[in-house]
Amino acid sequence: MDKKCLSSYTLEQLAAQLKEMGQPAFRAKQIFHWLHQKHVTEFSAMTDQPKTLLAKLEEEFYIAAPTIQRRQQSKDGTVKYLLRLSDGNCIETVVMRYTYGNTVCVSTQVGCRMGCRFCASTQAGRVRNLEAGEIAAEIYAAQKDIGERISHIVLMGIGEPLDNFDNVMDFLTIISCADGVNIGMRNISLSTCGVVPQIDRLAEKKLQLTLSISLHAPNNKMRSQMMPVNDAYPVETLIAACRRYQKITGRRISFEYSMVRGVNDSPATAKELANLIKGMGAHVNLIPINPVDGSPYSATDAENVKRFQKMLMDLGVNATVRRRLGSDISAACGQLRREEAAKEEHL
Ligand code: SAH
Repeated sequence: MDKKCLSSYTLEQLAAQLKEMGQPAFRAKQIFHWLHQKHVTEFSAMTDQPKTLLAKLEEEFYIAAPTIQRRQQSKDGTVKYLLRLSDGNCIETVVMRYTYGNTVCVSTQVGCRMGCRFCASTQAGRVRNLEAGEIAAEIYAAQKDIGERISHIVLMGIGEPLDNFDNVMDFLTIISCADGVNIGMRNISLSTCGVVPQIDRLAEKKLQLTLSISLHAPNNKMRSQMMPVNDAYPVETLIAACRRYQKITGRRISFEYSMVRGVNDSPATAKELANLIKGMGAHVNLIPINPVDGSPYSATDAENVKRFQKMLMDLGVNATVRRRLGSDISAACGQLRREEAAKEEHL
């Protein structure tokens, strides 16, 4: 029998599970504390629990506890981890230091099936979804390694969070729970390439997190060339979903715009982008593309990014240029994992 991941249960789900096992109600909170505040990685460490219960849990469940396979530290303090999961798969997690606190960028899937042409994470497709507890464990592993509290989370690592909807929702419940690490929704950003039906599902949850849309282009011709998901959910459909999202949640959306030389960085494109989103009160984050092996794209130079930003601002759209943390350890997201996979193939 395949064991289930106990650290993937929300407090409510854990209570139901323990009740089914004939346990008193108070055990749920105790076990949740062991998993999500003390971050134990073995059942035997739960010293206030009856041995018989621990033996039963051990039989049916496991605790997500990835190991650090590789660690790279940048001069600016950014740390990038290649984490190995219990089934041998690897994912990437990054910690960034900002003045307001430590932010961790988590992966939500092993690989990705969205196929964006500039992205290393998707080159070999999707292997599997991450469990809620595996995503939470990325944060616990990083926190333990740096010895400091993580206060902010961005779901911008490997994978498409809305393609693993239910597990990501459970992860958000676990991580924002007062009986766990208690990271507030306002300190969490979720980034999507634009899976429209799932954006609508997310809106209904009315969470206070920040939704980031990886827009990258203001029209269908350009966007479909960069992102196959645009064929299923074209720009006008996506923007309509963003407007619905803002209306339902009362939260402003933020747009990611990775700049590719000669593809989406002309003054005419800046104008088109401004026309598309003006009046939404949205924020645009400009990022020079991080070139990956096997992709034809190269980055717009810094000066052009600035010019593009100024045009947006002049046209009434709020835009900032993303600071490039960890550029000396570079490797765009997904590259460490690809390197590791290539190494293993050659063993
Ligand atoms: N799947 C989600 C989240 C993961 S990607 C999404 O698409 O939003 C996080 C962000 O990094 C996205 O905006 C994505 O488009 C961008 N990205 C991916 N590869 C990149 C690269 N090589 N250079 C710059 N940005 C990249």
